[in-house]
Amino acid sequence: MRLSFYLECSVPCGAGPFDPRQPHHLCECGMPLLVRYNLDAACKKGRSAMIMDERSMWRYSEVMPLLPGEAPVSLGEGWTPLVHAERLGRELGLTKLFVKDESLNPTNSFKARGLSAAVTRAMYLGAQVLSIPTAGNAGCAMAAYAAKAGLEAQVFMPRDVKTPFIRECELYGAKVTLVDGLITDAGRIAAETGGPLGWYDVSTLKEPYRIEGKKIMGYELAEQFGWRLPDWIIYPTGGGTGMVGMWKAFEEMSAMGWIDPVKRPHMVTVQAANCAPIVRAFDEGTEKARPWENATTIADGLRVPRAIGDFLVLRAVRESQGAAVAVADTDMVQGMRDLGRFEGINAAPEGGAAMHAVHVLREAGSIKQDDTVVVFNTGGMYKYIDVLG
Ligand SMILES: *Cc1c(COP(=O)(O)O)cnc(C)c1O
Repeated sequence: MRLSFYLECSVPCGAGPFDPRQPHHLCECGMPLLVRYNLDAACKKGRSAMIMDERSMWRYSEVMPLLPGEAPVSLGEGWTPLVHAERLGRELGLTKLFVKDESLNPTNSFKARGLSAAVTRAMYLGAQVLSIPTAGNAGCAMAAYAAKAGLEAQVFMPRDVKTPFIRECELYGAKVTLVDGLITDAGRIAAETGGPLGWYDVSTLKEPYRIEGKKIMGYELAEQFGWRLPDWIIYPTGGGTGMVGMWKAFEEMSAMGWIDPVKRPHMVTVQAANCAPIVRAFDEGTEKARPWENATTIADGLRVPRAIGDFLVLRAVRESQGAAVAVADTDMVQGMRDLGRFEGINAAPEGGAAMHAVHVLREAGSIKQDDTVVVFNTGGMYKYIDVLG
């Protein structure tokens, strides 16, 4: 028997709970909805009985939004390697530097996790046409899972996105619309176009299930470290789904007694110097972030001037006594090169940004020599190959 789940407002504002057998996007109050499970039943079952013999993120299908008897739309996403970066660690004076290598996911980024979960639910809800505004990778992932599920994919992305993102979406049979502006403009045009046509909107955090796929990164880290969490998680943040998702995973795991209820990692949000709304809000001490003007960066996944879940990211960073670091594009490229030449890891600029943030926090004395540090390499280098030219 699967755990029952329902949807609840992230604030919470008092509306709901909402039935997951009906389509839901934002709460009535305009805030994101989150999935909640009956975790008491899980506690009785015990941890080992709840983990499947499955080498994908669906090994934790009991804490995923799946209805009884339902099979996920899967391409083998998740359960990615956690690499001990010994040589790079030595350079930085760190004994326990690890890289969670998300470049090995289908479509070369961790967006596969969220879209596997979202497309699984969209199928159940009877969606025919899926639509997504994206900075790049989420569109590729949605297109792939839509193809797998036999659904139509409509992808809206900035006109100046790197060509491989467009070609990959088209390879999976998606219709691509290029829009003037950034992901926020793509979101507006996708909603204006698809709303009247009844397209199912898979925008991050407006759709409540992508975060469930991304939260599994937190479960995998715990299992890969023998059910102890690291001291630091360094995460390149755009929309923030991964940060919010992992923080949710830690809450769920401690509610089920899987991990120590007190010890949590310091969550570090890493953004691009020329698009750092969450870093700025962290420094200014505000609850939400002001939109960033004229956002530019080579890290397409970080080109997010405004995120609907910004307050959830900021909450996780503050509650965890974490940090917020802005990284210049040239330093991201250096981070990519370091991951490449010391560790043989194929990193996207986003992963390079997270790598550089470790330098910054090490030099500031925040990260200590024997701390366990996990850098998220959220994607691979190929789609961004020109930045290495
Ligand atoms: C989307 C993306 C990010 C940002 O992820 P969020 O969870 O939305 O903050 C980081 N890196 C890459 C490669 C991405 O595609």
